[in-house]
Amino acid sequence: PGENSKGITTTCCYCGVGCGIEVAKDKLGRVIVKGNENHSVNKGMLCSKGMNLHYTVNDTSDRLLYPEMRYARNQPRRRVSWDAALERTAAVFKTFIEKYGPDSVAFYASGQCLTEEYYVVNKLIKGFIGSNNIDTNSRLCMSSAVVGYKMSLGEDSVPVSYDDLEIADVIFVAGANPAWCHPILWRRVEAAREKNPQLKIIVSDPRKTQTCSAANVHLQLNPGTDITLHHAIGRALIENGDINSDFVKQHTEGFEKYRDIVFERTVAEAAAICGVEEALIWEAASYIGNARGFITMWTMGLNQSVVGVNKNLSLINLNLITGHIGKPGSGPLSLTGQPNAMGGREVGGLSNLLPAHRDLTNEQHRAEVEAFWGVPKGRIPAKPGLTATEMFEALEDGRLKAIWILCTNPLISLPDVRRAEAALKKAKFVVVQEVSNKPETLQYADVIFPAAAWTEKEGTMTNAERRVSYLNKITAAPGEALPDAEIICRFAQKMGFAGFDYSNAAEIFAEHAALTRGTNIDMSALNYSILKEKLTVQWPYTDVHAKAQNDDEASLGTKRLFADRQFYTTSKKAIIHSFEDVNKSEALSADFPLILTTGRIRDQWHTMSKTGKVNKLKQHISAAFLEIHPDDALQRGIRENALVVIKSRRGEVQVKAKLSGDIKKGVVFLPMHWGKVLNSDLNRANNVTNNLLDPKSKEPDFKFTAVEVSPFKKP
Ligand code: SF4
Repeated sequence: PGENSKGITTTCCYCGVGCGIEVAKDKLGRVIVKGNENHSVNKGMLCSKGMNLHYTVNDTSDRLLYPEMRYARNQPRRRVSWDAALERTAAVFKTFIEKYGPDSVAFYASGQCLTEEYYVVNKLIKGFIGSNNIDTNSRLCMSSAVVGYKMSLGEDSVPVSYDDLEIADVIFVAGANPAWCHPILWRRVEAAREKNPQLKIIVSDPRKTQTCSAANVHLQLNPGTDITLHHAIGRALIENGDINSDFVKQHTEGFEKYRDIVFERTVAEAAAICGVEEALIWEAASYIGNARGFITMWTMGLNQSVVGVNKNLSLINLNLITGHIGKPGSGPLSLTGQPNAMGGREVGGLSNLLPAHRDLTNEQHRAEVEAFWGVPKGRIPAKPGLTATEMFEALEDGRLKAIWILCTNPLISLPDVRRAEAALKKAKFVVVQEVSNKPETLQYADVIFPAAAWTEKEGTMTNAERRVSYLNKITAAPGEALPDAEIICRFAQKMGFAGFDYSNAAEIFAEHAALTRGTNIDMSALNYSILKEKLTVQWPYTDVHAKAQNDDEASLGTKRLFADRQFYTTSKKAIIHSFEDVNKSEALSADFPLILTTGRIRDQWHTMSKTGKVNKLKQHISAAFLEIHPDDALQRGIRENALVVIKSRRGEVQVKAKLSGDIKKGVVFLPMHWGKVLNSDLNRANNVTNNLLDPKSKEPDFKFTAVEVSPFKKP
């Protein structure tokens, strides 16, 4: 194991909070984990998921151990050597590329991949295969925030640090339940509140979640009305004279149009649309208006929407009109659901990005990357590749012949998942690179590559505050499982491509870091030695930071962006965007009158391939359920704990009902974690969700599906 001066350390592989972990081994060689007291994110704390990570490491009973392959769908897969599996995969990919072009193949990756893994797969497909068909499950969670930042601040850059939460005096949590989904970060907010009882917390959410119990104001809005709410708060701030006119004048563009738009509706009219009390909007606005430090914090409730980008922009506008950005305790903070959603974006691991946040449509940016990778000019196409849901549509209609799925479980997580499953069945060639033998995708795999898990490989991840943390290799991978980056590099070499002969992960990181030189995310001075020494730093991390003395805050990178009020737009001003406030989600009807929203529960993570192995974590909530308001239940003859059928225009789910006054009338909630249980897929929330996408971010509308719920009747 890569022990350093701080012991054997690594980073939690679950959510984007990015907690530091210390690892030890007992006499039997089993891994024991505890929170790292020296890590600036969690200072020794871990949530229930992090605390139980050792179970997932020590239990290897579900692991894929050897490569497997089959020559035809009706044949069983057989164990083969790495060489045989890689050579056949390379031969099939070459055949498709020669016959149908580079866009006939695609890679579908994950926000759980390490940065080094993301880097090599992105380099392979964009720079060598010559297609932009790489996307990840981060498309399902972060892409609206990425576009929101780019449009308002000029680049996908979270301006604040977690430390800012502790010095803010107003925190607006919009469409997020960090008490359950980002627990350690929320614990820090709660601790800040204990120290400063004057800290005001505003929460907007159609459900009264655990987070709401700490709120001074809970705006229990109707799903899809976030923009209306943000605009109403904006109007109230303007009416109260609580905007920062100097900042708006000197450092922003677009305020006049914004003012006209938000004044099209009175606060009372907006409150009626949102279904919240008008007085609460004024109260929230008055807290913000009097704040010295104001943080907006959000996640899937805004991102996973057909108007997700506009929801992001309308929230960021509140920071811009009040001038609460680029100073301590102030700014927008988008949370990420996955541990390395940000690292994936750094290396350009989405179908519309290039490394170091370069722009795919910019000819000079493409040329820079091509030159760096030593590939011919023009190799990287200007046209964006297929996004997550588009890949499965292209499999369905035959445009895409081969898909390589790594480190993700799309047959639970994609919207309208039965359609995605049918598409995967039709694919000509499916490669699945996976740790566990459980995911549903494996049954469609022509080739299976067994991958090394957390603690079995070295690399880095970046959390939601631009913080790069190092992950040690601590245990040996079972069987013949290999680190994901090594699998990709071996495949690239079988394809005959040069430039993938790295001897270790540090070399990949060094190449990635060098490619960031001179960009806004410059981390060219960063390397593994520094990360092992300091545990974690925040980008940008340049020579200035590397040369800073250890007692100088700069030695840990860049805590806060835009202190100089110079934004990354061409004019250097932040843009206050205006747009029509129309929710374009699926229409409700007499047959489908309820709004379904999906989300997480406290002790499970994603599709449960790790947390599902831990009995302790099942004790919190052990089965999928439907949360429904008692009035909606009564109207339908539904009792507590009765089996119900949730139907949409696409499919159905059958789970037990949980009656709760914590959810708004007319809205129901399903957790997103469960897949097949006892061979039935009827626990799978995404049987009913829809494929509508935000037109700019291509993020799906998981938070608004038209459904009806009825008691289950035996056929
Ligand atoms: Fe892991 Fe997130 Fe829990 Fe921290 S808060 S221990 S990163 S799951």
